[in-house]
Amino acid sequence: MRPFDAVVIGAGAAGLFCAAQAGQRGLRVLLIDHADKVAEKIRISGGGRCNFTNLDTGPANFLSANPDFCRSALVRCTPADFIALVKRHGIAFHEKHRGQLFCDDSSEQIIAMLLAECAAGSVTRWQPCAVAAVHAAEGGFELDTARGPVAARQVVVATGGLSIPKIGATDFGHRLARQFGHRIVEPRPALVPLTFAAADWAPLVPLAGVSLEVAIIAGQGRQRVRFVEDLLFTHRGLSGPAVLQASTYWRPGEALTIDLGAGQDLAALLREAKAVSRRQLGTQLGTWLPQRLGDAWLARLQLPADRPMAELRDRDLDGLGRSLAEWQVRPDGTEGYRKAEVTAGGVDTRELDSRSLQSRRQPGLHFIGEVVDVTGWLGGYNFQWAWASAAACAAALTAG
Ligand SMILES: Cc1cc2nc3c(=O)[nH]c(=O)nc-3n(C[C@H](O)[C@H](O)[C@H](O)COP(=O)(O)OP(=O)(O)OC[C@H]3O[C@@H](n4cnc5c(N)ncnc54)[C@H](O)[C@@H]3O)c2cc1C
Repeated sequence: MRPFDAVVIGAGAAGLFCAAQAGQRGLRVLLIDHADKVAEKIRISGGGRCNFTNLDTGPANFLSANPDFCRSALVRCTPADFIALVKRHGIAFHEKHRGQLFCDDSSEQIIAMLLAECAAGSVTRWQPCAVAAVHAAEGGFELDTARGPVAARQVVVATGGLSIPKIGATDFGHRLARQFGHRIVEPRPALVPLTFAAADWAPLVPLAGVSLEVAIIAGQGRQRVRFVEDLLFTHRGLSGPAVLQASTYWRPGEALTIDLGAGQDLAALLREAKAVSRRQLGTQLGTWLPQRLGDAWLARLQLPADRPMAELRDRDLDGLGRSLAEWQVRPDGTEGYRKAEVTAGGVDTRELDSRSLQSRRQPGLHFIGEVVDVTGWLGGYNFQWAWASAAACAAALTAG
């Protein structure tokens, strides 16, 4: 049988986009996925409306052991390029928050668009179809699949990360990379809620459901970051966009610093209020923080919620302001791959060419999307990486 120019393994965001683009360049492309349904993560993304890109995407929005690696692909396929495609397919969208673009109706529209693009490129799709093995062979590769052996001049691995195993995530890409001598940057759950030891968290359990905007600082050295986003208290710990963002930079044993005033100088505000306010401390604090949180905080510090502001000592108000601005928390873990939106780590970029995503160890082998050690922030950046890495790879694949 005539070999395919390229077999793309994984019909998720990156695999569909790469297969479509390569097919439209005239290559014979086979796209294989072991799951019954195509692109399950696109379907469930963005609460069913797929936050498909972010207008402000740049290398600073990604974490990688090699921070410059993503630069080349991101420049060659920009949010504007993907938006043009979305518009061509007549999909209505809106900006929700800080450059994040969502479909007005449904993420199914993005899947339908990618399938139509694959059809326009005459891509052959085998699904469900498991890939048992990939071997290097003369002129390319041989694959053992559930539908029999396949020969391909090039192989693109687009099998994603480890998050949400129940919808088809596997470590196939990492195993294949190791088989061809690639190093793997230790994978870990990212964009994930953080948990705390039950005994430490017990006093805060009654706050489950409270949410507020905070500033959160995580990471070390050059990877230290500060996000201003919403925080959510849960029964087991902390969640919400602020903590999901911070989780990507958090390593076991580290503390996070949370400013519950989100950058407002609460110590100064408390002192000003002392001079002019007739409120009690608890009510005053409730003008800046959710009341339940303010009350719990005063109880923790053993400060009297019912004392009039004018009667409080400056020292106590300063201490209260500082404790709110510099809340140090030490998570004991994460909610794991079951709840993580992405996997940080993955195929080490030092052994990949940044323009083509091709292996430097095995000519013709490529890795794209989340399987690579490039992890985006929350807010459409991970899909933009999937599109950009897929486009860079598709442009580099050759026809036989
Ligand atoms: C709940 C949730 C919400 C999200 N929301 C957003 C969002 O709104 N915006 C955003 O930018 N990002 C979001 N993400 C992240 C985003 O979905 C991923 O980063 C993106 O899908 C990665 O694309 P990918 O093609 O690399 O991998 P995937 O889209 O995960 O695709 C991988 C494909 O490979 C297949 N596969 C796996 N193993 C094998 C194997 N052994 N053989 C054959 N096929 C295999 C899988 O079935 C899957 O179809 C979200 C993630 C989750 C879990």
